[in-house]
Amino acid sequence: MKGIDPWGVSGIIRDYRRLFEDFGISPFNDLLERIDKPHRYMRRGIIMGHRGYEEILNAMERKSGFAVMSGFMPSGRIHLGGKMVMDEIIWHQQMGGDAFACIADMESHSVRGIPWSRCRETGVKEYILSLIALGFDIERGHIYFQSDNKRLLDLAFELGTVVNFSEMSAIYGFSGDVSISHMISVVVQNADILQPQLLEYGGPKPVVIPVGIDQDPHIRLTRDIAARMRMFRVEKRYNEREHKPYISIRAKHASKEAFEALVHRLEYPKKVYEMHIDVIDIDEPFGAAMEDIENIVRGVELEYGGYGFFMPAATYHRFMQGLTGGKMSSSIPESYIALTEPPEDAAAKVRRAKTGGRVTAEEQKRLGGLPEECTVYELLMFHLIEEDKHIKEIFEECKAGKRTCKSCKSHAAELMFSFIKTHQEERERAKDVLKEYGYDA
Ligand code: SF4
Repeated sequence: MKGIDPWGVSGIIRDYRRLFEDFGISPFNDLLERIDKPHRYMRRGIIMGHRGYEEILNAMERKSGFAVMSGFMPSGRIHLGGKMVMDEIIWHQQMGGDAFACIADMESHSVRGIPWSRCRETGVKEYILSLIALGFDIERGHIYFQSDNKRLLDLAFELGTVVNFSEMSAIYGFSGDVSISHMISVVVQNADILQPQLLEYGGPKPVVIPVGIDQDPHIRLTRDIAARMRMFRVEKRYNEREHKPYISIRAKHASKEAFEALVHRLEYPKKVYEMHIDVIDIDEPFGAAMEDIENIVRGVELEYGGYGFFMPAATYHRFMQGLTGGKMSSSIPESYIALTEPPEDAAAKVRRAKTGGRVTAEEQKRLGGLPEECTVYELLMFHLIEEDKHIKEIFEECKAGKRTCKSCKSHAAELMFSFIKTHQEERERAKDVLKEYGYDA
């Protein structure tokens, strides 16, 4: 069939083009061939964009260490949207990443006014249990509540020294009536993202944050903060007069001692100025030398009390529609499926979901359905069918008018029933695991 696009990627790229162009998000598709066994979200264009993911791939290829982190606000039930982030954390953990999952109770308390006791209970009983049930290896990874984490809060305080109110208000639309705690919760989230690079976790390294596309402003701010916290700025530049590239290293917040230590350690041809070094006569391509120099600079930063942060990378996934059409909303229970609801209720929601079917059976046969607009097809593609061949067949049969929505929904409802049932059995097993780690589930 000509022009077939079972993942709906072309439409999505069209819809999000402005975001890509205006904010410099890169299409994830371009990286696919470098990934050995990409997750189905990657293969199907559900993860559609990224920032700086090349560094994660380099680290995976060289086995040089990377981390993955994302967070969950414990304010409601864990649903299929939250599951997507969990799946992405777990995939990266299985690829060798040091995995961090944060329960953002400070955000939940300050932004939604949820009492601490409920933040704790929802965090454990909804989110942590499902995360482990889906395959997070708690022995190798890190799960934490923001409010418990002194190291995180110290880092947040430090990051707060380089962000001001005007900036926050431009990004988050804060006005004069926003509480100070709400603002603090933002820098705590910045700290969540940078925490895996602290010395206690092995020091600076590439970190990927899997998030929904709406979180990009937050990622951009954290990347800026990571850069501001550096003592030195390292950049490739071009000498127009000599027609030669070079690497410029400028001290931003470095002490005289740190600068001198760096001059001493850089065994490259260089010109040294006042708090500024140009590394010259390096053969193109610069990759290896740049990386070596960055490592030396980071080493000096750590030695003199800095952080040497890498800018965090991010992957961006698109959202599922709500089952009733439009957005998923926690105030419309019919619009989403919670991982903790009875399996038969979840299946019933699938049977009532909005499809891309035609008005009559005759039209469906003649014109075919519209899987691109069908929430049932989305459930199958995002969550219920792993094999690409199988999902492509469903797409083609739907387009060709060879499927009826009734039988299609029945099939999806059965798959949903068994997914939720199995997941809930896994959650029961996860309770024992959690007890060992001191959580009462
Ligand atoms: Fe959706 Fe299936 Fe109906 Fe096609 S046949 S519109 S995929 S429910």
